[in-house]
Amino acid sequence: MAIVLKTASGIDKMRKAGRISANALKVAGEALEPGITTKEIDNIARKYIESQGAKPNFLGLYGFPATACISINEEVIHGIPSHDRVIKEGDIVSIDLGAEIDGYNGDNAATFAVGHISDEAQRLIDTTRESLYEGLKYAVAGNRVGDISHAVQVYCEERGYGIVREYTGHGVGRKLHEDPSIPNYGTPGKGARLLPGMTIAVEPMVTEGSYAIRQLSNGWTVVTEDGKLAAHFENSVAITKDGDCLILTTPDI
Ligand code: MG
Repeated sequence: MAIVLKTASGIDKMRKAGRISANALKVAGEALEPGITTKEIDNIARKYIESQGAKPNFLGLYGFPATACISINEEVIHGIPSHDRVIKEGDIVSIDLGAEIDGYNGDNAATFAVGHISDEAQRLIDTTRESLYEGLKYAVAGNRVGDISHAVQVYCEERGYGIVREYTGHGVGRKLHEDPSIPNYGTPGKGARLLPGMTIAVEPMVTEGSYAIRQLSNGWTVVTEDGKLAAHFENSVAITKDGDCLILTTPDI
């Protein structure tokens, strides 16, 4: 597969898809409270996306049964929303979702605190968010994918955290998942060259303990092997002609 460069009008459509994705993430995150189920959160996200004339782009992708992946505490990614899964005070909740409109896709994720959480959990969330923006400093035309990967890795490992290896960021555009892969660990100067018009999703998945993971028997949910916490942040961005990347998944509500 080749990397698809977007035209200016393609980037405009990506901004629209990104804005709806970011707003849906915000609405879903703000709805989190003790006692609500992950299925209710998923419905809130789906209704928001549909109210904008867009389509939840995770729904049905590879057979995924919901609008959002909702992963709690030791769950890293791909948690399946359920009527049986009730959010509790002190949980940290990662929500990953996207919207498609006009043939283009947005994709974003964030980890939210529910009520009062431990200092350790807050530090994990803060470091994961910061590592995303550290990586995005290197999402500049002329750099390579490995420059982003390395920046994320060093930022997290210097603070004592693990970086999940098996799942990565990716190109995003007319398809939710395009080339290239954007690992969260790597070597500066290696990997695909970043060019103006490339649109990518950068998404550190960071663990409090070991980065080893396993998948639950439902075939989806990925958890830390040691049962310690995990956090996940993601933005879709465009590589521009003139320096800093453009964050596509910016909310406006
Ligand atoms: Mg993604």
